[in-house]
Amino acid sequence: MTARILDGKAMAGEIRAKVAAEAARIAAALGRPPGLAVVMVGENPASASYVRHKTRSTLETGMASFEHRLPADTSQQDLLALIARLNADPTVDGLLVQLPLPAGIDSSEALAAVDPAKDVDGFHPLNVGRLASGLPAFVPCTPLGCIALAKKAHASLAGLEAVVLGRSRIVGKPLAQLLLGENATVTIAHSKTRDIAAACRRADLLCVAIGKPEFVRGGWIKPGATVIDVGINRVAGADGKGRFVGDVAFAEAVEVAGAITPVPGGVGPMTIALLLVNTLSAACARAGLKAPAV
Ligand code: NAP
Repeated sequence: MTARILDGKAMAGEIRAKVAAEAARIAAALGRPPGLAVVMVGENPASASYVRHKTRSTLETGMASFEHRLPADTSQQDLLALIARLNADPTVDGLLVQLPLPAGIDSSEALAAVDPAKDVDGFHPLNVGRLASGLPAFVPCTPLGCIALAKKAHASLAGLEAVVLGRSRIVGKPLAQLLLGENATVTIAHSKTRDIAAACRRADLLCVAIGKPEFVRGGWIKPGATVIDVGINRVAGADGKGRFVGDVAFAEAVEVAGAITPVPGGVGPMTIALLLVNTLSAACARAGLKAPAV
């Protein structure tokens, strides 16, 4: 058996085309393009690459991009002052602070300083609480992408045994909340889980976000299950160059699963596409316009 490949790149392309059309409609109504501000502190190369992608995608879909790069030794006070300025800027609809922040910065305080109405990453405690309460909220983009990809394989997620491996606040926890909202039966496994392989084998829908290259083996997957691999890990390739692999041993898993996301080209492109959707939603909500049709 060979699994169906859930092509996140293609799906993200379709979403971005709709985003561009909606951005034009919203820009006409606002008299300015919807705007996304990204704040990055320090020189983390992976973060710099994500920020470049976000900026490019924002501009390509006709939105305004405001990129703020601060040196690694920026003080907490200066970061909070910039966030306050962007909160007050009427041309900024969405505002995100790229993680991780340097060791000297209190990330929780920085995330809580973002106006919840501009919090397109969904990391503000108010949005976290609203999601957990089943209320409308800004939801982190990576878990939203996981749900959209899972729905490519399943008309409904209701009643599925869903196992989420990883409990970070940016992926695992919000993904588990979304799956509960879809009426799946949800198990969250993590580094203290006693028998991870057994937990994985229960899953009709297995979502993995742990940051460990090819950790989940083919033998841990229930035949026919859907596998959503969030991991992005750079490893040395046979040719000596770096290459990216997921948290799932793809070559093994593809022989057992019913459907699987590739790495790269699965969850990653969906994350940025859904960030653009969240930015449009923020622009519409702030201006009292109809929500974007994406
Ligand atoms: P994280 O904050 O480091 O959290 C990792 C989670 O995995 C933790 O909950 C940890 O458990 C768990 N874990 C670690 N080792 C484990 C093990 N051996 N067995 C079971 N659980 C284990 O990571 P993250 O930010 O969620 O990211 C996870 C992966 O997704 C990374 O590869 C990251 O690059 C990728 N990612 C991709 C996207 C995208 O757009 N595609 C977005 C975000 C992240 P404890 O809580 O017990 O420590």
